[in-house]
Amino acid sequence: MATAPLLLEASTRSLVGHWIGGQPVPPDAARAQDVFNPATGTVARRVALADAATVDRAVASAAAAWPAWADTPPIRRARVLGRFLGLLNEHRDEIAKLITAEHGKVLSDAQGEVMRGIDVVEFACGIPQLLKGDFTDQVSTGMDNWTLRQPLGVVAGITPFNFPCMVPCWMFPIAIAAGNTFVLKPSERDPSASLVMADLFKRAGLPDGVFNVVQGDKVAVDALLEHPEVRALSFVGSTPIARRLYARGAELGKRVQALGGAKNHLVVMPDADLDQAVDGLIGAAYGSAGERCMAISVAVLVGDIADRIVPRLAQRAQALRIGNGMDAGVEMGPVVTRQALERISSYIDAGVREGAQLVTDGRSLKVPGYDGGFFLGGTLFDHVRPDMTLYKDEIFGPVLSCVRVKDFGEALRLVNSHQLANGVACYTRDGGVAREFTRRIEVGMVGINVPIPVPMAWHGFGGWKNSLFGDMHAYGEEGVRFYTRQKSVMQRWPASAHEGTEFAMPTAR
Ligand code: NAD
Repeated sequence: MATAPLLLEASTRSLVGHWIGGQPVPPDAARAQDVFNPATGTVARRVALADAATVDRAVASAAAAWPAWADTPPIRRARVLGRFLGLLNEHRDEIAKLITAEHGKVLSDAQGEVMRGIDVVEFACGIPQLLKGDFTDQVSTGMDNWTLRQPLGVVAGITPFNFPCMVPCWMFPIAIAAGNTFVLKPSERDPSASLVMADLFKRAGLPDGVFNVVQGDKVAVDALLEHPEVRALSFVGSTPIARRLYARGAELGKRVQALGGAKNHLVVMPDADLDQAVDGLIGAAYGSAGERCMAISVAVLVGDIADRIVPRLAQRAQALRIGNGMDAGVEMGPVVTRQALERISSYIDAGVREGAQLVTDGRSLKVPGYDGGFFLGGTLFDHVRPDMTLYKDEIFGPVLSCVRVKDFGEALRLVNSHQLANGVACYTRDGGVAREFTRRIEVGMVGINVPIPVPMAWHGFGGWKNSLFGDMHAYGEEGVRFYTRQKSVMQRWPASAHEGTEFAMPTAR
């Protein structure tokens, strides 16, 4: 198979570099940082950290490629996407293995992430239909009016560590299908998947310069943000950075969609199916070690369900199979870095100090054979109150906080008072309650008996309040709108040369 050598190389490369102008760029190692295998805690490789000059090269390459790519008919752009889709499908397990080795999530979860990224590529293949404009014949006598959507130019994407394939795929396939050229700045913690995607896209026939990757940190992000040629920025990461990028981008006249952090609640009504609620909570709280922006970190237990569900959650949290994500049967892998482990542990300390009841403590977990790994057990707190740090902050680890409330109204008020409003779920068997919940809840993505309601590729993804700064959600038709701007055209072909000058505001006639 033609692509195998490069993919193999990606997993053995000692210094991960950039991809500019359709080529891997030998990293300038002036600044670099370690990339770990979180299961062993050892350094797997290093990643170059781009300076402003490298970012400039990537943007220049994207700018040079833009006019021809924007002029390429959408159906031909879609065919390149179609070939890329085929290659991604062919190599999805190899990409998943790379992700597990750098991120730590279990292989089946990494395979699921790649598949959800592939879904968006599949959606982007429909770009000719998605870009079809509106036309009104005869808006005035002898005159027609139509609207079309045109690409913006060079656009950039900055992505977090927790989905190194899926989140970039929320952005670049749609942006590129719509006729833009792209610079991706992936997370420095798990950079390898980005280069594999760049290589596969080139093999699919993408012209050089249309898709570029710069590895790096804040220096690269700021260089992209400030670059006059970068017309739009899509960001996914933590709230403080999302807010700053959105504000600065707006000041510079750029289009920005900045998706931030989360604190997702799952409300369990007293009539909920207990088995389903327990399964939903355990998978959504501890899957991917809680490092998902749609992870459930708060269980809102309504009325008498609390006494029935907490012992079952505790038993399941203690029984989680935790280990190297590459090993069969493992349900939860390590967290991404030692710093993440320490940050999460300090939140558990704070919860104990502030008086929450620690039911299951993951801090002392040891995984045989993986002494250096960044492991933490599933942690469960009960009697968490809204004024506690544990409740207010995003922890982004395998910690589930149970908050007890007396009724549905109190559950709604609790969720609606939080400033992070990415996802939410409600478990109930009552259609009326479900409908009321869906209408009254002030959160961007809602699941009814669905614990992690990540919308499908054609629906679009986005939270509310401090979970998203910007007007448009990621991917789906909102994504197409974000990466294009509307142009309205009015046209007529009058028969006579002299019609007289019109000084009044023109109206239809
Ligand atoms: P992060 O904010 O630390 O990093 C995100 C990106 O920003 C990375 O590419 C990183 O290199 C860059 N970056 C880091 N520090 C920066 C700085 N000071 N200035 C500019 N750029 C900087 O986030 P993370 O730890 O990689 O990912 C976890 C966070 O992402 C969580 O808060 C999670 O909720 C959030 N997230 C949100 C969504 C969503 O859809 N809302 C999806 C996934 C992750």
